[in-house]
Amino acid sequence: MNPKIPLKTPLPLYKSAPTVEPIQNARQIYIETYGCQMNVSDSELMAGILTRSGHEVVSQLEDANVILLNTCAIRENAETKVINRLKHLSYLKRKQPDLIVGVCGCMAQHLRKKLIEAAPYVDLVMGPDAYRNLPMAINAVTSADPFLGLKLDKDEDYADIAPIRKDGVRAWLTIQRGCDKMCTFCIVPFVRGRERSIPLSVLVDDVKRLVDEGFKEVVLLGQTVNSYHGEKHDFGELLFAVSEVQGIKRVRFTSPHPSDATDSMIEAMATCDKVCKQIHLPLQSGSTKVLKAMRRTYTAEEYRELVWKMRDRIPNLIVSTDVIVGFCGETEADFMETYNLMAEVRYDSAFMFKYSSREGTLAYKSLEDDVSEVEKIQRLQAIIELQGRISYEINQELIGDTVEVLVEGESRKDVAKYQGKTDGFKTAVFPKADSEIGQFVCVKVNKATSHTLIGEIVA
Ligand code: SF4
Repeated sequence: MNPKIPLKTPLPLYKSAPTVEPIQNARQIYIETYGCQMNVSDSELMAGILTRSGHEVVSQLEDANVILLNTCAIRENAETKVINRLKHLSYLKRKQPDLIVGVCGCMAQHLRKKLIEAAPYVDLVMGPDAYRNLPMAINAVTSADPFLGLKLDKDEDYADIAPIRKDGVRAWLTIQRGCDKMCTFCIVPFVRGRERSIPLSVLVDDVKRLVDEGFKEVVLLGQTVNSYHGEKHDFGELLFAVSEVQGIKRVRFTSPHPSDATDSMIEAMATCDKVCKQIHLPLQSGSTKVLKAMRRTYTAEEYRELVWKMRDRIPNLIVSTDVIVGFCGETEADFMETYNLMAEVRYDSAFMFKYSSREGTLAYKSLEDDVSEVEKIQRLQAIIELQGRISYEINQELIGDTVEVLVEGESRKDVAKYQGKTDGFKTAVFPKADSEIGQFVCVKVNKATSHTLIGEIVA
């Protein structure tokens, strides 16, 4: 049983969904998603909005007369990928003149009219706060100018919209939109606007619905998920509240910001059985000087102390991270601080990138991208090699242990096997035996790589 922590304020009444007028001209809509899990979650939201208005969301592009690309603006190559995709869709449009092509999401918000210049055949361009208008925009498309929905709305949280998810065992639930941090390398605050939290009672009801739909695990999503403050409830309170929902087996979250890692959050992770003992805690740099240039709002020492504090309170905590090398002004000595911190913390895994300047960010406007490409590549290779070794060693130590795994589906490499995630979000692969998707099984680890645990089901 999870200990009950009293909430600071009473829960508000559930917000009822407004009625929607069905549209006259129903369309078949295909949504193609790029980028992070927030975008996957937004595509589910878009599917909910479109279906509720009478449109049909289809799973095959060939069946669609509307194609929406839900895009990412984090890196330049993500945008290049979408521009190339649009070129391909322009051929389809020539063959099928009534085909509507829309660009939604962060890239739409970032490039705005430049996108229309690059792809004049695009019919609608909608930012992340304009999805409520999608049904109307699709109906309003004419052969003249494209429909633009690019206004950021600090009050839009889509709390009343029920997303449409694919069947599965893990559901991603957006608890917060936008970001109030201003990391100098990041475009998110400019394309997703200010931070907004969805009311706690709405989220608790959402999790109840997810249980009814058969989901076993929920991942709470936000740009800085632990700065959640829905109706004055903090993130720790939210973790307690959702893990008390009958039938939900696992609760995890991504991505927290180190500066918002409160005692309340740590306590909830330590004491709620259902909250996974796993955290993805972005470091970005191990140099306080570089962190300051990034405006990350913590020092390397504060970050280090946080990790050890969490490990003290939560035994066997699985920790992963994000790291950027070659940021503006990063010297070899700064880089070595990152390298050494990674070696000291010994993350279970890490997403590692070399810095590339993004137009529209604070760094683009005011900092010099002064680390050479050769140095960036060398530094990236060095930490990839380090992290690969550490991940391998950590996973080797699990050989002989038995881990609890939520069965998710067939292994990508072997149809005779299932794969699933441990509490610590490690992938495990094992012969199917008599197990079923959605079941929790105990897997004895026989082998391990830096990414995967390989084993067999034991009683
Ligand atoms: S916390 Fe920083 S990196 Fe994360 S979304 Fe906000 S601005 Fe971007």
